[in-house]
Amino acid sequence: MLLAGCRLSETDSTTVFAVFGTEVEIQLRDTGPRQSQAAYAEVGALLQRLHRELHPWEDGALMDLNRAIAAGRTHETTPDIVELIDASRALEAATDGAFNPAIGALVNLWGFHKSSYPITDPPPAPGLVDALLARAPSTRDLEVDGLVVRSANRAVRLDFSGIAKGLAVRRVCEAIGEHDVGAAMVNAGGDVMVCSVGDRPWRVAIRAPGGGVLETIEVHRPLAIFTSGNYYRYGEFDGERYAHILDPATGRPVDEIMQATVIDPDPLLADAGATALVVAGTDRWRHIADSLEVERSMVIDAGGSVSSLDTAPESAR
Ligand code: ADP
Ligand code: MG
Repeated sequence: MLLAGCRLSETDSTTVFAVFGTEVEIQLRDTGPRQSQAAYAEVGALLQRLHRELHPWEDGALMDLNRAIAAGRTHETTPDIVELIDASRALEAATDGAFNPAIGALVNLWGFHKSSYPITDPPPAPGLVDALLARAPSTRDLEVDGLVVRSANRAVRLDFSGIAKGLAVRRVCEAIGEHDVGAAMVNAGGDVMVCSVGDRPWRVAIRAPGGGVLETIEVHRPLAIFTSGNYYRYGEFDGERYAHILDPATGRPVDEIMQATVIDPDPLLADAGATALVVAGTDRWRHIADSLEVERSMVIDAGGSVSSLDTAPESAR
């Protein structure tokens, strides 16, 4: 899983782990080699555990929970999954259902429970989509008591791919914070969390659709910068592309927004928020960004126009 570890200087270093279908890069500054090695070892084990626990279609804690839900059973799950359920319920409500990780069965029906992109399967029969849609899976259906979860709706299938990286980077920063580390940043395939800052700001690039850099920002405080798009992971059949982000209201892939970036100190909000803004579409994304109270959002529509919305308190800028 450890792809490379290269020392840049005595005190600055970087290491990459392959998890969540992407590369997660950790950068440490002003940190001695022994402290760096200890931090990297802990982060590696943490990422591997989260990867297994939250995998949407390979055996692990989330699949166990989904099987129990399908069978109508109550099930004891993990603290991470409970944290994701709690956060997701608030986010589903605040986004008018645009972010809804209970639609895992729909994601699977569209063929996105696979690791090789693009997907080349034909889209599902409309009747199958509508049948799942009619069962209205929602995180509202879940009852949580400590670690014990049950669902009033057997059609719920949890797929946390739209928020799991947010939890992962939060956990990575927490783990790094336990070590004697000067400054740290995590980059999960273009989704970034600045954990801590030393005497130099971090420079974070926001990717542009199709490659390149849309904007580079200087970050002076702990902050998450997450981007979702419909151009990188998609299906293609008969020359038609379909996105891996679905509108839970229609059960079908979205197409109005090519890419959305959310910047906020809370990485779960930034991750889920970026997915939600892609779903919200050109008419609704500002409203959803407002109701989520994210600091800043940037959206690129299907025609390539860039718009941004700044809702940060003056003090945070
Ligand atoms: P990325 O894969 O680029 O990190 P996202 O964070 O936007 O993208 O997550 C997209 C994933 O979230 C999809 O692959 C799917 O598993 C899941 N998903 C799709 N539509 C939704 C939705 N409306 N709400 C929550 N999760 C979704
Ligand atoms: Mg997301």
